[in-house]
Amino acid sequence: MYDSHSLFQVLEAIEDGIYIINQEYTVEYMNKAMVKLFGEGVGRKCYRLINCSNRTCPWCRAYEAFSGKQASMEVDVPTVGKSFQVLSMPLKNSDGTVSKLSVYKDISLRKQQEAKLKSTEADYRRLFENVGCGVFVSSKEGKFLDANSELLRMLGYESKEEFLEIDIGRDLYLRPKDRKAFQERIEREGRVVDYEVDFKRKDGTAIPVLLTGSVRHDASGRIAGYEGINVDQSQRKAMENELKEAHDFLNRVIQSSPNAIMAADMKGNIIIWNHAAEEILGYTSREIINKMHITDLYPEGLAYKVMKMLRSEQYGGQGRLNSYPIFFVRKDSSLIEGNLSATIIYDAGGREAASVGTFVDLEEQLAMERKLHQTQQQLLNSEKLAAMGRLTSQIAHELNNPLYGIMNALELTKTEIPPENKRRRILDMALSETERLTEMLRKMLTFSKPERAEKVPLDVNEVLDEILLLYGKQLRENSIKLNASFDAEPGLVLGSKEQLRQVFLNMINNARDAMPEGGSLDVMTSARDGRLLITIADTGIGVRKKDIAKIFDSFYTTKDSVKGVGLGLSVCYGFIKDHGGNIECESEPGHGATFTISLPLFEHEK
Ligand code: ADP
Repeated sequence: MYDSHSLFQVLEAIEDGIYIINQEYTVEYMNKAMVKLFGEGVGRKCYRLINCSNRTCPWCRAYEAFSGKQASMEVDVPTVGKSFQVLSMPLKNSDGTVSKLSVYKDISLRKQQEAKLKSTEADYRRLFENVGCGVFVSSKEGKFLDANSELLRMLGYESKEEFLEIDIGRDLYLRPKDRKAFQERIEREGRVVDYEVDFKRKDGTAIPVLLTGSVRHDASGRIAGYEGINVDQSQRKAMENELKEAHDFLNRVIQSSPNAIMAADMKGNIIIWNHAAEEILGYTSREIINKMHITDLYPEGLAYKVMKMLRSEQYGGQGRLNSYPIFFVRKDSSLIEGNLSATIIYDAGGREAASVGTFVDLEEQLAMERKLHQTQQQLLNSEKLAAMGRLTSQIAHELNNPLYGIMNALELTKTEIPPENKRRRILDMALSETERLTEMLRKMLTFSKPERAEKVPLDVNEVLDEILLLYGKQLRENSIKLNASFDAEPGLVLGSKEQLRQVFLNMINNARDAMPEGGSLDVMTSARDGRLLITIADTGIGVRKKDIAKIFDSFYTTKDSVKGVGLGLSVCYGFIKDHGGNIECESEPGHGATFTISLPLFEHEK
């Protein structure tokens, strides 16, 4: 149907190389594409043309075509550096001979792609093996199908065969329920990212890992297993722990400081508050951190002053404040005095990031200083008193003898005057005043030279009983109601009966003097914590607060010169101190005074 001319035209148009050889391997025809590939060659031997060789090409299968068969093969032709899909077929000539027609289809590109693909697979394998984390493929049922050497190393397995045998749920997961949770999640969501879980190494030790995986489907689209990576977290965890330990240690250092340590960010929000700060200023860290402002702790205007000082050069250098005396406001609004040292903390870029302050509470120290001052004052007073005592005793001695002379003379004169005589009353008055004088002298002598009385174990209740018995009448006459309440088992006190009598008597007399219009007098004893407390309380005129400290001083009296010399309480104080005890006075002016004497109880051997 077609003439051979138009057939050749078709061959010319084809892009694959086509040529025909006769049985002598001489090229009879080449289409354009073939000429383009190998150059003009009609009349030449095909192997010279194609392979530049004197022998048939190594891949030549022309004999098959000459014997009537088709052949197809892939051929690399080094002379042109290309690969071809070669198709050879017999071509019967009209003279009965057979020629061979070959089609050279250039497949170099496909070959290259295939080669590239091959290398990608190798790359993947290399990546799989060398990547710095454990890579796995596992079945839904819980076996590993593949794992890289890093995963084996991480988990302490030497042989892959052994690893592929383990039961994941039982041998790998530290807590099997974690695998269940992982499976549920991955199957629900298709993938799981950064699942934190603890695995077991071959030797049973735990290893924290971060697991990222996705599901694998089988040909029918069902989930067949999982694949993914495991990243060893032990180093990160160890670092986290180290960091936490360092943080905890620092925190303990801050918390255990006896001084208040506080820090605030640059907006003034409090961010650190230690135990001492809680104790000294009364706010718990919970109620102050991120809730209160540092300026809330200063008396008005002081915060601004401190901030200014911190930024000046004068108080310890820029950004520092050294031991500056200051007041803070406690939670109960009271002020507390102490020293503040503060520093501004700068960030890496040199910008102000926070400020830290250490506050040393000086209340106790200041109280001690005040006490020391007081003691020094007392010491000074006692020296003065000693000197005065010596003088007093001399005067008392000097006065004693003439006084007794006067008294004797008066007594004598008295016998000579009959009782009904008016002068007798004047004489009695003179006598009683002289007796008062001798009593005063006696007190002055006791004060200046307190006798070292012998101390014996005694029952204070008994001493008080005797006194109250003797003085009961006098108290009643002064409209004073006596209430005595004694501890049933007060224990014994090592003391001088004489001195203690004098103390109680003095106090009862003072109480009586404080209640000129009458009132009530409570005398109580109670033993507590190894001490005996004796309380003598009246409902009299009382003592003003500012005078309480003075009443124990010698010669302090508010009574007229006839009634008092102001030595009673100072002698009492000396006696009680000498007994290892103490006297305290509490009073509300107009409502009475309460004197509490405490004495150490005698611990006798049983
Ligand atoms: P005197 O009794 O000689 O004044 P004291 O040393 O015994 O000396 O007392 C000193 C002062 O203490 C008294 O003058 C009085 O002002 C005050 N005082 C003592 N006891 C009481 C009391 N119970 N109530 C009120 N004031 C008292």
